Amino acid sequence: MNIIDKRNSLARHGSRTYRRRSRGSIRNIAIHHSATTSGSAEAFARYHVNSLGWPGIGYHYVVDRDGSISWCYDLEIVSYHVGNSNGMSVGICMVGDFRTQTPTSQQREAALDLTQYLMSELNISVDNVWGHIEFPGYSWKPCPSISMSQFRSQLADRTGQTNRSAIPSPTYVAGARQRTYLSRGDQGDDVRALQERLNELNFKPGPIDGIFGPQTYDAVVRFQRAAGIGVDGIVGPQTRETLRDFDESLEIVEHGSPTDEADEREELFTSESRRMLRHNTPMMRGEDVREVQQKVGAMVDGFFGPETEQRVREFQQRENLTVDGIVGPQTWRALDRVNANNQPSYSRLLSLQTPYMRGDDVKRIQRALNVSADGLYGPITERTVREFQRREGISVDGIVGPQTWARLFQ
Ligand SMILES: [Zn+2]
Repeated sequence: MNIIDKRNSLARHGSRTYRRRSRGSIRNIAIHHSATTSGSAEAFARYHVNSLGWPGIGYHYVVDRDGSISWCYDLEIVSYHVGNSNGMSVGICMVGDFRTQTPTSQQREAALDLTQYLMSELNISVDNVWGHIEFPGYSWKPCPSISMSQFRSQLADRTGQTNRSAIPSPTYVAGARQRTYLSRGDQGDDVRALQERLNELNFKPGPIDGIFGPQTYDAVVRFQRAAGIGVDGIVGPQTRETLRDFDESLEIVEHGSPTDEADEREELFTSESRRMLRHNTPMMRGEDVREVQQKVGAMVDGFFGPETEQRVREFQQRENLTVDGIVGPQTWRALDRVNANNQPSYSRLLSLQTPYMRGDDVKRIQRALNVSADGLYGPITERTVREFQRREGISVDGIVGPQTWARLFQ
């Protein structure tokens, strides 16, 4: 069992972090498929962080089609993958869309090895190895779309007859730590991640081979030119940041039309990351509700209540959609466009604190207020917020909550 340690190299959110737990609180191992025909820990991490706004990738482990295992998070991290059951679960994702594909044999073996190893590490019985769909509230979700009873019976066969010596032992390979600068001639996983990203953005870096050759160089130069940053063909901190934040929806005519990325997103949309949201009793809750609330300007508390429904209706009205207060595929897509157009969404209360709060959201309000955008919420920013609030005739407290945020960006 070959485990590649990517705990330090995958995309992470600039300010949000997952909470931690003790190992003793872990009760379940959750099996997922990625619902995409291809992909990687790197690509899922970017999707979860950049598109969903999560603190990091949702899974603890990703098992590739070739059977290699990416280690994304320590078991003590509570990542997002099974909603209300996140706190007591470890997530394993197999790359593939098993509605239409089957796991490769190497992949299946690796997933079984890994699960067996984790069962032993965490003292979890085979009955507590569940497919995503078997978790409370997920009976509608076609994940992982393999027979879990068969998966469990294979595990039982392995564990039943055995002694500890038969438990697969992991060998760890260090994943590449991110280098500060990448340029021609460099090789490695970070170059591969760069190529994947350029490819997602339609800059066509040639084969995704982890080698920074002429085509990759050419793509970097074209990207730097398109992004309006210094053009040197070297990927340093600025280029890296710009690549991360680059708006994928911008049409870059000379580089052609959207590629498979669009389909992948559609698939992720339908089965892995989106459910239909509506005002129900009991109220629906979760990260996806928060995401909707942020985007429609409702109070962000993670519960889909009457106020959220009202804001969704208003949003639907503005967008010329059917006004029903229900977040279905069409409304989700419209919400995605809100994100794609880069209208900033409210995510937290900003105020003057010691030490100063910092982040991209602070930068955004600074830009909107025309003060120097250093990303630190200091006294000048606070004063300017007060002045703005006074002008707007809203309560003057120097704190950017949902209301001030909405006024700033409307
Ligand atoms: Zn899943």
